[in-house]
Amino acid sequence: PEPVNSEQALHNVFLHEEVPSLNVVHISPEMAPVSKVGGLADVVYGLTQELAIRGNNVEIILPKYDNMRYDHIYGLCESFHDLWVPWYDGAIHCTVYFGFVHERKCFFIEPHSQDNFFNRGKYYGEQDDVWRFAFFSRAAMEFLLQSGKRPDIIHCHDWHTGLVPVYLWEIYEHMGLGNSRVCYTIHNFKHQGMCGGELLEATGLHRPEHYFDKSRLGDDHHDGALNLMKGGIVYSNFVTTVSPTHAREVRDMGQGFGLESTLQTHAPKYGGVLNGIDYEAWNPQSDKHLAAQYNADTVGKKYDNKRALRERLLLADNEKPIIAHIGRLDPQKGLELVRHAIFHCVNNGAQFVLLGSSPEPSINAYFWHLKNEINENPDCHLEIGFDEDLARLIYAGSDMMLVPSRFEPCGLTQLISMRYGTVPVVRAVGGLADTVFDKDYSHVELNKRNGYVFHEDSYTGVETALSRAIACYYQYPDHFRHLMLNAMKTDYSWNVPGQHYLNIYNHIRKK
Ligand code: ADP
Repeated sequence: PEPVNSEQALHNVFLHEEVPSLNVVHISPEMAPVSKVGGLADVVYGLTQELAIRGNNVEIILPKYDNMRYDHIYGLCESFHDLWVPWYDGAIHCTVYFGFVHERKCFFIEPHSQDNFFNRGKYYGEQDDVWRFAFFSRAAMEFLLQSGKRPDIIHCHDWHTGLVPVYLWEIYEHMGLGNSRVCYTIHNFKHQGMCGGELLEATGLHRPEHYFDKSRLGDDHHDGALNLMKGGIVYSNFVTTVSPTHAREVRDMGQGFGLESTLQTHAPKYGGVLNGIDYEAWNPQSDKHLAAQYNADTVGKKYDNKRALRERLLLADNEKPIIAHIGRLDPQKGLELVRHAIFHCVNNGAQFVLLGSSPEPSINAYFWHLKNEINENPDCHLEIGFDEDLARLIYAGSDMMLVPSRFEPCGLTQLISMRYGTVPVVRAVGGLADTVFDKDYSHVELNKRNGYVFHEDSYTGVETALSRAIACYYQYPDHFRHLMLNAMKTDYSWNVPGQHYLNIYNHIRKK
């Protein structure tokens, strides 16, 4: 078919207005707060909440990891004892547990395999990740089949679940799940789940020549490699990524990590839907981890949080603004620019706080080294690790949040910052470009500006934006306050994206 652009694909979808109540099952490798690695976990948490509020029956299938936050699961019990999941020539015995996570209905799959698939003390970063999640996807489909669930919509996420639609259309369609339709959301194109053909033997997808075809799972750039994300795109009924700008970047501007032509071929069923954040979970007025709770009318209380943050991190108590960075320490996040910004800020009248971690030992070691080098400075603190409670105090106690990513599908840190009245300083890529508005954008009126944006992936780019923000903080406090309030007022809840996803569901569901 003629490729259409993402907006057009979504425009066609948005024609539908009446959406009946649907049975929706999300299949995901992570969900906040029980198993969170990054933004995907927040999205599954927030979107499923919004869909449930709108009257849909929503259930979530997750792996049962040994290192989950079990304290966030209510009423965990065995739900399905004997789930036998085909794997190689035999089958692996699984137990499925049921529990509520903040009122969401969740099923956790625990395979009793010798390989201990999800009892490794960490979520990802294992040699056999592709096998583990190919198995999880098969187990989730088998669970739907054996438990008699017949969802209208299966919504699956990232490369980990790329085989879900493949299993559906190659195996389960003929076994009773033929009325389900699949929406596939890609949160990060960088990791695609690539592997050799041996995987097919395990999965029961037995016709290698069929699946290796480049119109199906055969990787476009590596002969003999399967690409699970590509399978997800090809076999799903609708494919989204998490912002309109990123949807264009990956399809048309060479940033799709090799999936450009697949996305062009499937353009009529592809588009970008901006993520939201859960306004209950991220609410400065009710956040128990803050020193002082506040809203737009009492935004002055941010200062109490700033003081608490300084005390906790042993920062000097002075008049300087605090600039923060929270995120995975991944090259994607512009780590060179983060490092440069730390020195730029402390040398130019600001304090800097970093909270980040990486599964990559060499990156962690690099930041430990930097921490040791710089922590003598009373205007700077680097915290290496994952700590959601501290993250909340940083969102509330900082004045600005730096997000200098090389690429950013959507980005949640700038959205959470804005909710907490912390002014984002971002590079104009992906979802950052769709959510942060600066004066350089001639179409943005004064009362819509909510942060600072730079374009160039360079030291000069980040320095210029930071210097403008720091100067405004000191010289034009009223204008800075105006930016804070604009940021707080912008609606980045799940309200609008929730409706978009419902329109997509209605567009693809079997009528
Ligand atoms: P990504 O999905 O690429 O990791 P996002 O900006 O979409 O990035 O989402 C990051 C989420 O993870 C946010 O909720 C952020 O607060 C959280 N986060 C990232 N790193 C940490 C950390 N070290 N400690 C606590 N929370 C973190």
